[in-house]
Amino acid sequence: MVDTISGLASLEYEHDAWGIDISVAGSQKGMMLPPGLSFNAVSEKALAASKANTSLRSYWDWHDMIAINKLGTFPYTPATNLLFALKEAIAMLEEEGLDNVFARHMRHGAATRAAAKAWGLDLVCLDPHSYSPALTAVMVPDGHDADAFRKVVLENFDMSLGTGLGKLKGKAFRIGHIGHFNDLMLMGTLAGVEMGLDLAKVPHRGGGVLAAMEVLKGRDVVPMLKTKAAVA
Ligand SMILES: *Cc1c(COP(=O)(O)O)cnc(C)c1O
Repeated sequence: MVDTISGLASLEYEHDAWGIDISVAGSQKGMMLPPGLSFNAVSEKALAASKANTSLRSYWDWHDMIAINKLGTFPYTPATNLLFALKEAIAMLEEEGLDNVFARHMRHGAATRAAAKAWGLDLVCLDPHSYSPALTAVMVPDGHDADAFRKVVLENFDMSLGTGLGKLKGKAFRIGHIGHFNDLMLMGTLAGVEMGLDLAKVPHRGGGVLAAMEVLKGRDVVPMLKTKAAVA
């Protein structure tokens, strides 16, 4: 079972070819839409397991949905406006080309990691094969509060960074580089982080924005860690 909420349309992902039984995605990340739609891809094996399961459920049951989807419609009122938006989002992805979309996310991940390295801040992810093309989580040095830093960035630059989740609360912040996003948006994002580190007096070195720009300029030299290799 794969949670590919931020992964769908951000990086290479093949439900059938990789033998996945259940993929769960949402509209609000790589699909560039407001929240409100969820997508499930379900293998025959998972469907059979679900049919064999006699526990009671209604809302979360796939079978009503599948039965009526065959007629091209939904068992309950869908978020109609989001379906129109989805049609446009898919057209945008096809226009750019999925390979280009994936490469763009890879470049933005590489550039963001280069910025973190230049700042002298650690990444949460220690395994290069697990680096995310969709977001980068960055540790703040011991004795500093990542959420206080996020607040400074929000108040000064109107930019909302992600909080550290679970045991990383207060220790890390997350930079999203996903969906409808381009090089200049990333440069603005990283400039906001770098200026915020300064304002919040989080110890760091300068030069993160420049390091990221070097990665963005050298389009061909970005290390393209293939997701496939990570899965294999
Ligand atoms: C964003 C995200 C979630 C949570 O989705 P929300 O509905 O936005 O809270 C779960 N899993 C992954 C991988 C995500 O990126």
